[in-house]
Amino acid sequence: MTIQDILEIKALLSTPKKIAIIPHKNPDGDAIGSTLGLLHYLLQLNHDAKIIAPNDFPDFLKWLPGVETIKNHEIEKEETEALINDADVVFTLDFNAFHRTGNMETVLANSNALKIMIDHHQQPDDYAKYMFSDVSMSSTCEMVYHFLDKLDALNKINTQIATCLYVGIMTDTGSFRFRSTTSTTHRIIANLIDKGADNTAIHNNVYDTNSYNRLQLLGCALSNLKVLPEHKAAYITLSQKELRDLDYKKGDTEGFVNYALSLNDTVLAAIFIEDKKQGIIKISLRSKGNFSVNELSRAHFEGGGHTNAAGGKSDTSLEETVEKFISILPTYSKALNNE
Ligand code: 5GP
Ligand code: MN
Repeated sequence: MTIQDILEIKALLSTPKKIAIIPHKNPDGDAIGSTLGLLHYLLQLNHDAKIIAPNDFPDFLKWLPGVETIKNHEIEKEETEALINDADVVFTLDFNAFHRTGNMETVLANSNALKIMIDHHQQPDDYAKYMFSDVSMSSTCEMVYHFLDKLDALNKINTQIATCLYVGIMTDTGSFRFRSTTSTTHRIIANLIDKGADNTAIHNNVYDTNSYNRLQLLGCALSNLKVLPEHKAAYITLSQKELRDLDYKKGDTEGFVNYALSLNDTVLAAIFIEDKKQGIIKISLRSKGNFSVNELSRAHFEGGGHTNAAGGKSDTSLEETVEKFISILPTYSKALNNE
């Protein structure tokens, strides 16, 4: 994003606009935190701004300030599509290809609104007039902070904005431990605490609200964990029956794949989750070092993401998906064993 871009965006936002703010499908802490952080800023400038999510998001984010205003395209298709069609400006946050919004892809692709992308995923599509894309960033929330900084708007950060941005930085960095966490990330976090983010309460609200069933599901996932030491890989499966038996709720499996990656001598970890309703196996991939799960997922599982964290899917059965995963590993064995 150039200085000229910033000047143009400042001019654009200097008078009230109709604005739609869009996170990706199955929004996570960074997607919800960044869209809400931006929303609270735009509302202060008297814009008519709304967040439109492609679908629902986990309960552990539903305490964030402003969540009750988020529209769900899956539930209010006509109303949300009218909002997008009427919008002067569409911000797309925490994703960079329209297909990442699932069924909202067409309405976004057909929209004439001016698009602004703020995102940290690899290989962005070229749909935005203003593209703020940086794969080195820990999170989109960190980027929203930098965006506000460029707009000379850090003084607009109140407790609400600080809380929302803190959440996304925290969740996307695995609580400030992934490689993308820099000293700048920590300085921003310190500033957000100074602006009113209650760090202890935030960690508690996001991580310490487990249901009994979720912990049982984690137990099930861990007992399904398989290790492939020759490839420095490990994977977890969860069948639809296992999810149903433990009353699975959206977000319950968040973070499970990290237990597989935490095994000593593991470079690649995967979780395969059966979703009979959508007829897919949802896949989450994680890695250590330079091994790129973004590339692995793009090549084999119709997905993508970052070097060390990516998602994907498969249209075959749980067993066939696992077999495919195991069958492609020899191709990557050298890279995995060199990490
Ligand atoms: P997760 O495994 O937590 O769902 O996602 C890990 C990372 O990969 C996130 O940054 C997420 O946005 C991205 N991601 C997840 N699923 C997909 C997918 O199907 N396609 C692409 N391109 N990225 C994904
Ligand atoms: Mn993110």
